[in-house]
Amino acid sequence: MTSKPKNKSFPILDVLVNDKDLIYFDNAATTQKHQSVIDEVVNFYKEENSNIHRGAHHLSQLSTNKFEESRGAVKSFINAQHNHEIIFTKGTTESINLLASSYTKILNAGDEIIISEMEHHSNMVPWQMCCESSGANLKVIPITDEGELDLQAFEDLISNKTKLVAITHVSNSLGTINPVEKIIELSHSKNAKVLIDGAQAAAHIMIDVQSLNVDYYCFSAHKLYGPTGVGVLYGKEQLLNMLPPYQGGGEMIKDVSINKTTYACLPHKFEAGTPNIAGVVAFKKALDFINTTGLEKIKAHEDSLLEYALKKLKSIDNLKVIGTATEKSAIISFVIKGVHHYDLGLILDKMGVAIRTGHHCTQPIMKKFNISGTSRISFAYYNTIGEIDYFIESLKKAIKMLS
Ligand code: PMP
Repeated sequence: MTSKPKNKSFPILDVLVNDKDLIYFDNAATTQKHQSVIDEVVNFYKEENSNIHRGAHHLSQLSTNKFEESRGAVKSFINAQHNHEIIFTKGTTESINLLASSYTKILNAGDEIIISEMEHHSNMVPWQMCCESSGANLKVIPITDEGELDLQAFEDLISNKTKLVAITHVSNSLGTINPVEKIIELSHSKNAKVLIDGAQAAAHIMIDVQSLNVDYYCFSAHKLYGPTGVGVLYGKEQLLNMLPPYQGGGEMIKDVSINKTTYACLPHKFEAGTPNIAGVVAFKKALDFINTTGLEKIKAHEDSLLEYALKKLKSIDNLKVIGTATEKSAIISFVIKGVHHYDLGLILDKMGVAIRTGHHCTQPIMKKFNISGTSRISFAYYNTIGEIDYFIESLKKAIKMLS
């Protein structure tokens, strides 16, 4: 039975798991959904559902307006210059695939793309595929033993052959916050464009794409308390205009005849087919929640959880934190001598604690540290110090059972 007060904002946090109060520390994988997001999805299907952009009737205009209002909310959230610089996708993975597919068509043999050893597979495999098809070469920035980018190696790698640098803002397995300002400046000095994978950043760090002067930036709504199946690719207008489209189909055309098609303007050129309309509409509610709460307040709270948890974890014998960068987001990966991460995850689950185990879609990081996987805890705004205390007690019990 639970003694926890009801959580009105995030109802799933009231769910009992194995008869225990749920402690959800898997926020880097996906965050839980705010009540206003859930209400908006239901309301959309009950009262507003229609396809967008193509109808003269009332519901179509209503859903189109709400869809475009969400685009405006994303534009403001990252301070883009224009609404049409915001492309809606299925998620970060699709945003990167979109860009990689378009770059495949404009790169030449001998051109270079730079990524890093700490990328999520989503920001690695599409570039490997892009290079395979275009004849471009993939260069990789190594990471240090602390889990930071080796910036000297980056300076040595970048050259006038570099066309794109694609780097994560925050590492999903190490928590490292990368110095993206420096990376963008150095890349631009060699005329290379920059994509920042913001999947782990946008819910925690204020993003201003204009002051960053970043060329492309992407993230997923589901890691910002919003729905799954919605992502964003931001690109500078001039660059997106120059790129060939990604998928062909409805919505992305200006004129079609049997022999020739001309493409629609931004953002529609990159939004073929019917999107996740309800998800995009409800995403605005998640952004409203973040804006009302304030990203600075969210980050300060998560930073205090991070500091507290790291201090508590230090007192556990044989536990090693993987990823000890100076600039770190609220993600902690750890290994324990003699304890397999998967067994640990299962036992903690029995105690009501949800953590993630495995390679976290970053196998090159695991290879670098010579491990098969880690246990990972990651925090969101709704987590508390009390939950960390319960987690630490549970962890100690689990280690006793497993060793
Ligand atoms: N990049 C990073 C850094 C991530 O953490 C993730 C999700 N774990 C992705 C990309 C892929 O995001 P999605 O699955 O939402 O497409």
